[in-house]
Amino acid sequence: MRRMTLPACGLMVALLASIAYSQSRGASAVVLYEGARLIIGDTSAPIESGAFVVSGGRITALGRSGAVRAPAGATRVDLAGKTVMPAMINVHVHIGYEGYTSWGAENYTPQNVLDHLQREAFYGIAVTQSVGSSPTDQAIQFQRDQDAGKFAPASRFLFMPGMAPPNGGPDAILLKGTSALHVVYEVSTGEEARAAVRTMAARQLKSVKIWVDDRRGTYPKMTPEVYNAIIDEAHAHQMMVHAHAIALPDQKAVVRAGADVLVHTTQNEKLDDEFLALLREKKPYWTTVIGLGDRSEVCDNDPFIDQTYPAKTLADIRAASCGPVSPNAANREAILANNLPQYVAAGARLVLGTDAGITPRHAFGWADHHEMSRWVKSGLTPSQAIVAATSRPAELLGLKDMGTLAVGKRADFIVLSANPLENIRNTREISAVYLGGAKLDRDARLAQWKRSGAAQ
Ligand SMILES: [Zn+2]
Repeated sequence: MRRMTLPACGLMVALLASIAYSQSRGASAVVLYEGARLIIGDTSAPIESGAFVVSGGRITALGRSGAVRAPAGATRVDLAGKTVMPAMINVHVHIGYEGYTSWGAENYTPQNVLDHLQREAFYGIAVTQSVGSSPTDQAIQFQRDQDAGKFAPASRFLFMPGMAPPNGGPDAILLKGTSALHVVYEVSTGEEARAAVRTMAARQLKSVKIWVDDRRGTYPKMTPEVYNAIIDEAHAHQMMVHAHAIALPDQKAVVRAGADVLVHTTQNEKLDDEFLALLREKKPYWTTVIGLGDRSEVCDNDPFIDQTYPAKTLADIRAASCGPVSPNAANREAILANNLPQYVAAGARLVLGTDAGITPRHAFGWADHHEMSRWVKSGLTPSQAIVAATSRPAELLGLKDMGTLAVGKRADFIVLSANPLENIRNTREISAVYLGGAKLDRDARLAQWKRSGAAQ
């Protein structure tokens, strides 16, 4: 064999690197996946024995097995007995502060943001949006770097800034992180609010978060003058407003004012006719973030959840949070079971959000599955829960090529070994996660977390 000259050798290395790169992006292989039940992610019926072709990281054909022809040279993957659903989209987290053995602004680095996005991806989430708690400059830089392919495969990062009165906004724990990094845009008047929104629009930001909550009389609450100005100015720049409100009068006020996304569910009040009429009229998107108020699932010894925690952290959570359920819990459950189907029936457009990262124990990835199971426990069907975790958040975020299994969409999907339409907890039976047509190496990720002490 002829010895390769150095330049030719260099060319070969570059070529191999480019092939490896395109394979890791799912761009070069043509693959036919056949035999699985396909859950489309919108309201259409599942295809019981389906097939689809992935090429260039996208779905290029999809239908019943036998009706989809494999292009010449395609690799075939037998998924008989499996269920495939679109990868999920989480529109509400607080990324970067969780450290799994610590929590705070000192943890906020690009590496830690990436770690949280890898945790979301590990659990089948293709897009993760941080809401109101990410430093704007760093977040924009991170997005640029991720879009340029600088990071390992992970959930795609989106973010929006937050606005609050001085010393208002995030709850006491998150506030420690956001204050240290000067993240929240503090505004006192309508004019200040409009000016701040204009600076965001100038940076091409698409959404903004507001807090309208006095935390039981302990915080300054954003005034109607300010939130009306924010919503008006944001809409003038085609930006959306996500409004945190917990009390029923505040939820009414922000929906009436035109907030696009309502964040949280009322905690202790049943919905009334006035609010239901407002929901019917305005049809806001709505993210429940119920899970945060729950007794931790870590208390249930579910390996699906425990696998991505350090052992000591699990022990600490169990020692602190797994005592008897509070006497209030039954009442809270009853109100949720009453309210959640009413929000949805009136027209609130439910979208997946978890609040992961807002406190040390409420962590990334598994919380998405927890939230969905909470919806079903409170009266939704599994199919409604899956739509709210896939196609509807894609619609909210304007991600036209994500959120369903359909021709032309990105090949972001989860392979499950059980059917979540029968039991929503089957979204936890993850056999594989694909992002852009590339199979995520979940075993390697988990091994890496174990090596670094970030998982048990
Ligand atoms: Zn939140």
